[in-house]
Amino acid sequence: MVQHFKTGKWLIPIVALIALAGGIDSASAKPKEKSKPRNVIVLIADGCGSEQYTLARWFKGAPLTLDEILVGAVKTHIADSVVADSAPTATAYATGYRSSDKLIGVGPKGGTLPTMPEPPAAEWYRPLATVLEGARLKGMATGIVATSRVSHATPAAYMAHVPSRSQEESIMEQAVYQGVDVVFGGGGRYLLPKNMGGKRADGENLKSVLRTKGYIVAENGAEMNAFVTGRIFGMFSGDHMEPEIDRKEFAPKQPSLEEMTLKAIEILSGQSKARGFFLMVEGSEIDWADHGNDPSQLMSDLMQFDRAVGAALDFARKNGNTLVLALSDHNTGGMTIGNYGTSKTYSQLKLDQLLDPLRKMRLSAPGLLRKVGNEKTPEKVKGVVKAYWGLDITDDEAAAILSIARKDKDDPHNGFGEVLTPRYTAIGWTTHGHTGGDVPLFAYGPKSPKGLLDGPEIGRVTAEALGIDLDRTTQRLFVEAQSAFKDGMVTIDKTDAENPVVRVEYQEKQAEMPVNKNLMRIDGVESELEGVVVYIPETDKAYVPLQAVHAILGKKGKRPSISK
Ligand SMILES: [Zn+2]
Repeated sequence: MVQHFKTGKWLIPIVALIALAGGIDSASAKPKEKSKPRNVIVLIADGCGSEQYTLARWFKGAPLTLDEILVGAVKTHIADSVVADSAPTATAYATGYRSSDKLIGVGPKGGTLPTMPEPPAAEWYRPLATVLEGARLKGMATGIVATSRVSHATPAAYMAHVPSRSQEESIMEQAVYQGVDVVFGGGGRYLLPKNMGGKRADGENLKSVLRTKGYIVAENGAEMNAFVTGRIFGMFSGDHMEPEIDRKEFAPKQPSLEEMTLKAIEILSGQSKARGFFLMVEGSEIDWADHGNDPSQLMSDLMQFDRAVGAALDFARKNGNTLVLALSDHNTGGMTIGNYGTSKTYSQLKLDQLLDPLRKMRLSAPGLLRKVGNEKTPEKVKGVVKAYWGLDITDDEAAAILSIARKDKDDPHNGFGEVLTPRYTAIGWTTHGHTGGDVPLFAYGPKSPKGLLDGPEIGRVTAEALGIDLDRTTQRLFVEAQSAFKDGMVTIDKTDAENPVVRVEYQEKQAEMPVNKNLMRIDGVESELEGVVVYIPETDKAYVPLQAVHAILGKKGKRPSISK
């Protein structure tokens, strides 16, 4: 039952691990009608550790929705680091395989931890099929919801295959050509070329491509809610969406994570009555709140995430055949309830002492910095902190915040949390980066896992519930071109450096497949492929769907079934 790739013996037979560890507990699933389609909703609270959920529960003053469905924990480490980053962790959740830092939807490169066999160089960066691609190939409806740019690491790992998370142009292009039914989030700039105010250096106008493909492109919550049927790309911000706590102040037309989740479920369940759906929802900015050591954004974005989980659970309970998984990809900030200020007084920590400072916060730390604006003086900082965090801070503290803002150009707002939370709250932080602990796992529905899972098992559990075989999906979607056309000639045409094309000359045929798209032209006749064409500059290898190989070789070869 364990599937290895022919040349991929280094890949851990995770199916076997799950069987041994009892990772899937079918006994805990309620009896279901066999005929009903299976749906899976995965919700990811980026950068959220166990203690953040505890704080949110105190803050809410009642159990979290998540509390009802806690089933275990997940190990988050990646192929080459004890501490994870979103790109390889989300890749593990999407593909069932552990990968290396920065990689999106592709297997690991060299330099793995001693606990993991080193992959052979020929297999580095090998594209791996995602649960979203498997679900789509099976005819299920698919959706992605995030509060970051949808080309950011976590959503990217479900829709794209690139050797670096920073290649957001390629990621967005693959997302557009992936045929996802519902995409909600930020990142509209990556749909447009530079001469139209966008970020794309390749000159492509993906917004018009989406319209040609029949998508509705929605730009605010009202347009999203007006949508009835078909496919929709909701781009609610050119860049990332606003933190929940800042939304009403800075961007009231943006929908909330809960609203996007509700609408995505409504659309996907309506379109997929016969075949089911897969949906990934990310509370993307919980991570950034933790990076900034910012309790205001943390509480508001995490409470909003809990509401999105509530929306998924309400649907799952009514539907009866939907697996809901909720988890994080890693902890960020190393947040604790208790800090050096409570070293001697922790056992007398009263609820008001913990919560009062948090309840006075009305904007995120980045929001505070926006209010400070160009007038970066201690006086202005003091006024803004008083107005929006309710704190009377000293001149020295205000100066310290400004000094951190000047030093840290990438995250100038970090100073508010770093300077103020140790002095005015009982919350502690250990880093502006990520930390390596296990994260809680929440699940509900058929095929619900339990216990301590390894990160890649999340991908396998998702695939199992969707009834798809990820390894066969990979064999079908990503054939290495040079080895597939032994008697042909494969070249990567980089005449237009921003728009490389895979060219194959085979006998009398001339085929061309633009990278990052699902298009093929044979002797000038264009057709759509069932997956996107991937090129990895690091290995100079191109990967194309088996369908393209068959068409070029003139074979009526059978494609592997992706159903389990
Ligand atoms: Zn992060």
